[in-house]
Amino acid sequence: MVSTLRAFAPTFNRYPSRAFSIKTQMDSITRNPDGYTSTSASTSKPTETPITLQEWQGWGSTSPVPTMVTEIIDELKVLEKTVDAQMSFGGNGGKLQGYFKTQEDKKHRATYQALGSSEQKLQFFSARQIACRLLGSRDYLCQKCWLPFEDCMCSRVKHCSLWDRARFWLYMHPKDFLRQNNTGKLLLQVFGKEATTLSLYGISEHEEIMWNAFKSAGRSKVCCLYPNKNATSKGVQEAFGSELSTKQENTQQMTDGDGILNFILIDGTWSNSAAMFNRLKEQAILVWGEDIPCISLSTGSSAMHKLRPQPSWDRTCTAAAAASLLFELQLVPKFSSVEFEKQGEALEDALEVLLEALTARRIRMGRSITRKVRHASSFC
Ligand SMILES: [Zn+2]
Repeated sequence: MVSTLRAFAPTFNRYPSRAFSIKTQMDSITRNPDGYTSTSASTSKPTETPITLQEWQGWGSTSPVPTMVTEIIDELKVLEKTVDAQMSFGGNGGKLQGYFKTQEDKKHRATYQALGSSEQKLQFFSARQIACRLLGSRDYLCQKCWLPFEDCMCSRVKHCSLWDRARFWLYMHPKDFLRQNNTGKLLLQVFGKEATTLSLYGISEHEEIMWNAFKSAGRSKVCCLYPNKNATSKGVQEAFGSELSTKQENTQQMTDGDGILNFILIDGTWSNSAAMFNRLKEQAILVWGEDIPCISLSTGSSAMHKLRPQPSWDRTCTAAAAASLLFELQLVPKFSSVEFEKQGEALEDALEVLLEALTARRIRMGRSITRKVRHASSFC
């Protein structure tokens, strides 16, 4: 049960100390032919029309369409004409394929190499990744749950309001954007854009919005959920609740006044997360001259949550980590009336819905399901 979701998704093992990823069959699932049928039956190719603001924001973003993403899409279209081959996508989440892929590989590698700074390289990498995901997922994935339309789980996900003085920042790696088995998206689904903001790593429009919000909130109202306890991260009780804390003044700053608490969740694979965390750290130094404040989950928090057989979910995945954070916040006396537990449970419920949907999809596509998944299915 504990590693159930990992059977689907190597990208889940983000939070605890599992510094490895498990290659799964889910990785190699190719697009459902039914998805193509409806697309190919239409008169225009899905790659022909530009990405509109409405379409872009429909995937969960709050920013304008990133300039570099638009430029890369335009370049892809030009390349189609140049090499006289149509873009086509397969794989799980908008991977180019066929002859066009070979040509585009050469081109983007050359572009990447020619870029002068690591910052430019990161921005190009991210924008290209997002561009491909957008085009490849169009007319195929539901914009809310990021599952193929025939597997849409939206009707089963219940919305829940997050405490109006808390906000999640979903700092997502581009490779996890529009991934079916991504769990960070569940925060957007459950709490809505009003309480969760998607911030894609390396997309300057997103990172600017995020850092502008942090600057105006102030360092004392920002904290990054760090996967492991380290020298600089605090436990939730220590950061927010302990009356004995030597940082009482700081605690008051974090909970008093009208300011909103900003929680950053790093949503990427273990191997990508270090770079993402470093980027946050570097920016914090630039902005505040100090490290980004971090909190980490205590190992026993799931056990303290009595209402479900514990641990309900592997805390490696982003949504489960967020749920655990909410359960720990519930234990802070000053938050006892905030109903964080209810909010954490809503997130756990959505995780179960996602697992069921992924399992059902796998079965429908004739894929074997692992023993663990079968067990989880009967459990739910
Ligand atoms: Zn849906």
